This record gives sequence, C-alpha cells and structure tokens, in this order.
Amino acid sequence: MTEIRSGVVVVGCGIAGLAAAVSALQGGASVTILERAPREERGGQTRYTEAYLRMKSETEVTDDFEDQFAQNAGGYLDPSLVHLASEPRENWPAVLKTLGFAGPDVIAAFAEAAGPTIQWLKSFGVRFDFLPTQFLTKSQPRLLPVGGGLALVDALAAEAEKRGAHFVYETAATALIQDGAGKVLGVRAVSKEAAIQEFRANAVVLACGGFEGNPEMLSRYMGPRSIFLRPICRGGYYNKGEGVQMALDIGAAPCGDFGSYHAEPIDPRSGMAEPSVFIFSYGILVNQQGKRFTDEAPTTIDACYERITREIFNQTRGIAYAVLDARHTRIPNYRLGLRTDQPPIEGRTIGELASKLGIAPEALEATVAEYDRACRAAEFIPLTLDGLATQGVVPKKSNWAHPVDQPPFHAYPVISANVLTFGGLKIDRRARVLNQQGDPMPGLYAAGEVVGLYYKNYTGATSVLKGAVFGRFAGSDAAKRR
Ligand SMILES: Cc1cc2nc3c(=O)[nH]c(=O)nc-3n(C[C@H](O)[C@H](O)[C@H](O)COP(=O)(O)OP(=O)(O)OC[C@H]3O[C@@H](n4cnc5c(N)ncnc54)[C@H](O)[C@@H]3O)c2cc1C
Repeated sequence: MTEIRSGVVVVGCGIAGLAAAVSALQGGASVTILERAPREERGGQTRYTEAYLRMKSETEVTDDFEDQFAQNAGGYLDPSLVHLASEPRENWPAVLKTLGFAGPDVIAAFAEAAGPTIQWLKSFGVRFDFLPTQFLTKSQPRLLPVGGGLALVDALAAEAEKRGAHFVYETAATALIQDGAGKVLGVRAVSKEAAIQEFRANAVVLACGGFEGNPEMLSRYMGPRSIFLRPICRGGYYNKGEGVQMALDIGAAPCGDFGSYHAEPIDPRSGMAEPSVFIFSYGILVNQQGKRFTDEAPTTIDACYERITREIFNQTRGIAYAVLDARHTRIPNYRLGLRTDQPPIEGRTIGELASKLGIAPEALEATVAEYDRACRAAEFIPLTLDGLATQGVVPKKSNWAHPVDQPPFHAYPVISANVLTFGGLKIDRRARVLNQQGDPMPGLYAAGEVVGLYYKNYTGATSVLKGAVFGRFAGSDAAKRR
C-alpha cells in the first residue's frame, strides 16, 4: 500500500474541493486533491453548470435568501426546539444539537460570506455579471460567473496548481482513517490500477458531491422510482456518495432531505448537459394517458419549475409531454427556455401529434378541447405574469391560459433530471462535520453537495455558492490543524 502525506487532503475537484484547496494553500498548508475523474473531466457537476447565484449584487444575497432556507429548514419541525436555535450554538440544549435541520447559524454564516466569497473568486480573475438565463420570467435576480462553472473550475484549479497542490486524478476515496481517539488522520482510496492507497493528513475535506450517480443509494433513499431519474449532466455520474457514506460510517450526523433531490425538467432524448424544457408555462402538460395533472403556470417559471417537475416525476414512467401551439414561437428569445438540442415533435392536428407521442388521439383531443373551453380570449403577453387563468377546469392553469388552437402543434417529452441530491452531512458554521451528538469531529470538514442543507423545495441558485462558501471556510480552518 502506498502512503502519501500532506497537511490537508481534499476529496473532489468541483467548486467545493477547489475552494477548499485554494484557501488551505493560502493558509500555508500543503494540499493533496483526490479526484475520481480524469484531468480532462475534472470539475464534477460544477464543470457543466452555468452557475446561477442567488445574489442581488456582487456583494449581497437576494432579500429572500435566509427566509427561503428558513421555510425549507426541515419537515414539521418542533417549534419548542426551533425557537431555541436563535441562541448561539454553544447555548443549545443537547437535544437541539441532535436535530437534523438547516441550522439558522449555518445559513446566516452562508449569507454573510457569500459577498466576500465572490470578491475572493474575482481575485483569481473570474468575472461576474447579470446575464440572460433560461427563465423567460423570474422573481429573483441571478448573478452568473462569466463562462459558467467551468470558469470557476479553471481559475481555481490554475491557482491551486500555481501554489503547488498535488492533484491525484482517477483516484477515488473510499474510507476515512481515524486514530483511537476519533481524530481523522486521512483517507483510504483506490487508484486507476485498483490499488489501495492511503493519504494521511492533519485534516480531510470531503467535497466529492452527492449521490446522484449511485443507483443503489438513490433507490435506498428515494425508492424504486428513482430509476426514472437521471443526472442532469455527465459530471453527476462520478458522484457516488462515498463522501456522505464514509462519514456516516464513522458517526457523522446526517442532514438534509435524504428522500429528495433538486428536480429540473429535461428532454430525455438529448445527451447534452442540461437539455432543459422550461416552456410549458405557455401550453399544457399531459401524461401518457393524455391527461393534464398540474397547474402549468402558477407563477414565474423560476419559482415553480421544481414543484411542477416533481409532478411530472409522479406520472406513469416519470414522463410527461409539453404540448404547445404556434403561439409560443412568437415569444421573443423563446429558445432561451428550450435548451434541448432535439427538435419538437410536430403535428398539424392534435390527433396527429398524439399519435406521434404514443397517446390515444381521442384522449388528447378531449383534454385540449376541455382546456380550450376554459380559456378566455385575451392578448398574449408572455414575459410578465398576466393572471389570465382558466375557468372551470381541473387542474386550473393560473397564468397564460390561452387555448392550444394554432397549428402546427409542438410537443417535447419531459422527465425530471436529478440536479443534486439533498441528503448529506451536518456541519457547523466553520464547515466542521458534526457527529450525532452535534459536536465537531476532529480533523473532518465537508463542503458542497456532501453537506446536507436542503429540505422540500431547493432554494434555487445556491448550490454553487454553498460549495464556494463552505469550501473556503473548510480550507482555511483545516489549514490551521497541526
Ligand atoms: C447542468 C447543471 C446545472 C446546474 N445549475 C446550477 C445553478 O445554476 N446554480 C447552482 O447553484 N447550482 C447549479 N447546479 C448544481 C451545482 O452545479 C452543483 O451542486 C455544485 O456545482 C456541486 O459542487 P461540488 O463541488 O459539491 O460537487 P462537484 O462539482 O460535482 O464535484 C465533486 C467532485 O468529486 C469527485 N468525486 C466524487 N466522488 C469521489 C471520490 N470518492 N473520490 C474522489 N473524487 C470524487 C467528482 O468526480 C467531482 O469532480 C447545477 C448542476 C448541473 C450539473
């Protein structure tokens, strides 16, 4: 067995791992970064994202940031415990320290450090701007790094290389090494040649993503229907949940909604990264039985797509079809909301379209006729919420309820992608992994998707930021360990 020693071992080379590595290097530690993928695919999920950031400026998060997290901090949390969480953590009673929820102190630290972290990223040459997004209508601003997640990966990896980080590609961590006192001493890993290696360090940062690429864990936590989910891009297949699993194995506390994930509507026919279909607000969604099953436009698309995608996932075989008439092609820049590289399935009549979709024509014709009768004639104003709702049809459609009556008719198949899993590890505001009693585990840190913070609805555009912020915390704290 080969043994390699450094100050800090970082597992994973996405935004969380690279932020941890660079901040540990800045703190004076020697750093080894383990990465399952080959060098040319480094960057994990981060490599493929446009990286929307829930920020209203380069220095401040959006006004709703902490509220959104608070509303989605857990299930039906015990109010007698939650109100005690406003005290500093040192004063928490033992039982509160064991609670699996998004702690307000962790969220506050996240919000506070977001702006300074953007400034820190800028110091490596990354530029940020409010660029056009896939959302034709939106309720919150999104700041973007110019060049997306790949620009973050390239800039941070170059900085880490410049500062002498030791990258070990095609090597996957499998287990943590501890001494008799519980201190984490390093990780065991498996190389490309299937050889076992040990990487010893004063501290380990787990930054190796969620478990979207592990069918066994998906089935274990989300049930057999997870077969109808797939990672939103190739990077997700490398994330097999070892970071979460190896820490749970030594007594780390779980946090985040293990039975859930961030859902995004994609076209299953496409193999490109993020082949999204966000255009259904302007038509209807039907299942394989040709029936509508949800309000297609309860609000702006950025604020409702996740809930709607979960409804799509609940349909037979986890699939639905967005059915649109010619009206949608008149929306300025409508292709922004349709990233798939696959053409629409087209019909001159609804019956012809249904046949091409494998839906009984009379079923889809009846659904469209019933929906059309529930619509009122009105001007088509696609880029603002128009409040034009159906009348007398169930389910209701709340906005842009125009009839589907202008040929040619277009349809896109839509499934739910698994953008990221919610279940992970519990950390404190310094990114230290906590044990089941709520105490920091010596020498163990986590950042990015490995950290569980989301319950119910994903607080959109916060995962990259979470990786950057807690990765940076983890690296600087880990560098101080001797
Ligand atoms: C297409 C797409 C669009 C998205 N859009 C947004 C968005 O707009 N805004 C937003 O905030 N989030 C978005 N997300 C989510 C966000 O990009 C990710 O959640 C985030 O980048 C994850 O960062 P990470 O560092 O935790 O994990 P990753 O970037 O996935 O990095 C983890 C790394 O660990 C490696 N690894 C895994 N297991 C091991 C192991 N055992 N040993 C060694 N290495 C291992 C992987 O190969 C990978 O390189 C999107 C994701 C995708 C894919």
